[in-house]
Amino acid sequence: MKVPLLDLKAQYETIRPEIEGAVRDVLESQHFILGPFVQKCEEAIASYCNSPHAIGVSSGSDALLICLMAEGIGPGDEVITTPYTFFATVGAITRLGATPVFVDIDPVTYNIAADQIASKITPRTKAIIPVHLYGQSADMRTVMDVANAHRLIVIEDAAQAIGAEFGGQRCGSIAEYGCFSFFPSKNLGAGGDAGMVVTNDPGRAEKLAVLRAHGSKPKYYHRVVGGNFRLDALQGAIVSSKLKHLDGWTEARRRNADRYNRLFQASGLNVCDSREWAKGRGRDSRMPDVVLPAASNDRHVFNQYVIRVAARDNLRTTLQTNGIGTEVYYPVPMHMQECFASLGRRAGDFPESEGAAAQTLALPIYPELTDEQASYVVDSIRQFYSRPD
Ligand SMILES: *Cc1c(COP(=O)(O)O)cnc(C)c1O
Repeated sequence: MKVPLLDLKAQYETIRPEIEGAVRDVLESQHFILGPFVQKCEEAIASYCNSPHAIGVSSGSDALLICLMAEGIGPGDEVITTPYTFFATVGAITRLGATPVFVDIDPVTYNIAADQIASKITPRTKAIIPVHLYGQSADMRTVMDVANAHRLIVIEDAAQAIGAEFGGQRCGSIAEYGCFSFFPSKNLGAGGDAGMVVTNDPGRAEKLAVLRAHGSKPKYYHRVVGGNFRLDALQGAIVSSKLKHLDGWTEARRRNADRYNRLFQASGLNVCDSREWAKGRGRDSRMPDVVLPAASNDRHVFNQYVIRVAARDNLRTTLQTNGIGTEVYYPVPMHMQECFASLGRRAGDFPESEGAAAQTLALPIYPELTDEQASYVVDSIRQFYSRPD
């Protein structure tokens, strides 16, 4: 049996006429950059995220960059974030000449250990970028409390978390800025690169809109230097069409996660969840076969379903041989990336991030995943552990 990590074709089959219609409408209009299709998409995303303003941009990476630019963050400034994230989170900071300051992760959620942020704040700290990794909110109460106490800007990296919630609030709408990516493999994917920033502040929204078009306002007059961070109409139209299905897809992802949890519990494997594991580590150093994602009261949208296993690379190879796609998000934490060597951080500095980078594995969780496929994945993992070694 084949179980790809993600099956975008299966999803396209269910929405083909709508997408083709949306693309045709843009072609008929011949209005390709910004314009009415992008505006419609911005309004729809703002409404979905319960945020008053949304600004379409060229990618999730540019969404992060433009927020930092809007705050004037640059050389000499520090931005606190997690080392266990996609490169873009940290790349945005260093591209502006600012310094990323890392805080290790909470091994239960793989998100920034918010209670450790305060200890990293200096007079140079300007902002915090929490990442809602895998579709689960970071601890935004603690992040916002510490940010408010120190007058820091918070930029939510919600690239993996559209529709996720914390305390009933939509991720991205909690802080000054929320950044989304519509990269095709995200829960809401465009037909190419695309992104969005949401903000609850009209002044910031205006600034972002100017910055995404080279800082031009009025046209050909520049008080600030921006860039070409515009969203194109084809992407806006596709995202608007797909947004209508997002809640259905998210519910399917959540059901798939529950089904994996049940299948693992019933598999005879030695399993526990990440909360139990993190708590018990001191007493019992032996790792269970599989550490499952811990349940949460907040809405997790499962951009990824990530397990933790000691023999990660061997398991991954075996699953690949069995036709099962998996991925490692992310094998090298940011403080250990070659391009950030000048930050002077080394192996051992962020042990939770390094442990997660060595042991986590994302399994297929896309909405169209069938019962048979899910059972096959868990059965293949069970067989891996029952091999005589
Ligand atoms: C995907 C992603 C981004 C970047 O989004 P792009 O649209 O690919 O530029 C940023 N941060 C995180 C956490 C992501 O997963």
